[in-house]
Amino acid sequence: MSEYYNICPHCGARLDPGEQCDCNIEYEKYKNTIKEMVKIPEEGGQIKFKFNSNPWEVR
Ligand SMILES: [Zn+2]
Repeated sequence: MSEYYNICPHCGARLDPGEQCDCNIEYEKYKNTIKEMVKIPEEGGQIKFKFNSNPWEVR
């Protein structure tokens, strides 16, 4: 029974084989956001992250 679907490693949702979970797409966007932040140094050349306490709650 468990062979008929994959489990999303991020949220545990059941996915069809080859299907990508929506939360994973959000995660990819989140990673791109991090890359953008890292790419642009703050003043003084230091890289600062503007995280909230919980990055998943970013609006
Ligand atoms: Zn998921």
